Amino acid sequence: MRIISVIFMLVGFTWIYSCSSEKVAERVYQTKNVVVIVIDGPRYTESWGQSGRPNVRYMDSVLAPSGCTHSYFYNQGETWTTNGHTALTTGEYQAINNTGGEYPKNPGIFQHYIKKHPEEKDLVWLITSKDKLEVLSDCKDSKWKGKFIASTDCGINGLGTGYRHDSITFQRVMYALEVRKPKVLFINFREPDFSGHKGDWNAYIRGIQQTDSMVHEIWKYIEHDPAYKGKTTMFVTNDHGRHSNGVSDGYISHGCTCEGCKRIHLWSFGPDFKQGVLLNQPAELIDVNTTIGELLQLHTLKSNGRVLTELFN
Ligand SMILES: [Zn+2]
Ligand SMILES: [Zn+2]
Repeated sequence: MRIISVIFMLVGFTWIYSCSSEKVAERVYQTKNVVVIVIDGPRYTESWGQSGRPNVRYMDSVLAPSGCTHSYFYNQGETWTTNGHTALTTGEYQAINNTGGEYPKNPGIFQHYIKKHPEEKDLVWLITSKDKLEVLSDCKDSKWKGKFIASTDCGINGLGTGYRHDSITFQRVMYALEVRKPKVLFINFREPDFSGHKGDWNAYIRGIQQTDSMVHEIWKYIEHDPAYKGKTTMFVTNDHGRHSNGVSDGYISHGCTCEGCKRIHLWSFGPDFKQGVLLNQPAELIDVNTTIGELLQLHTLKSNGRVLTELFN
């Protein structure tokens, strides 16, 4: 009888122990801040995939040597703006309304981060040229809806007020970095998508070149400010490409599953990542979300992607 009760106690203790140890052990990375920049809608063939890379010269000559480049990087969901961005922030592809009329199904990295670090609520920022992307700050999940909301600076004056010029977004980003010091910063530049839709090829190409230059300025800032240098991970990617030549109206539109719409670019940089590496492993938008979740140890994040282990030192 005594033996049986001892066994019972042992089983009980083991159970209690395993329950209490459910709290996941924290891995420690050098990354303390994460900056994500989305350049809206360039085709791979006019950006990283073009011979000589004339339109992304900073990415090619300065940024790529200091970070990692995924050459086979895709949007594997719907190739629209809100859909691509939602995949990045929530880690799930969703057939979401693309006009700002619907919130993502699941909470994004902002909500998970603020839930974990409520004292840093004011250090999580969403700064976008497209007003509709303000929906990324919240979600439809009743357990999260309206809670842990990031600071937003989207479009002319928030959801429903229209797009603003990227030069304004760039100024707001620089101000945020200099004054507010966000720890999680998510940026959208509307070019080259905006000029692509107008069917203005020259403005579309200029849009790629100008965003390349702004990304370089942001990276230079991060590399000189002691609040960021050596402890900030940066991702630069796209939400979608544009139709391949011969598909529909070509570079003017996007939204289908052609190679031009799906194939995009990812550059990753940070203290936990390798430098100057070209990666041939296929990867996709939701993987960036999973990787951010790993770097910031956001254990509540339910991402469908994979950690991009090939990036890590
Ligand atoms: Zn877009
Ligand atoms: Zn297409």
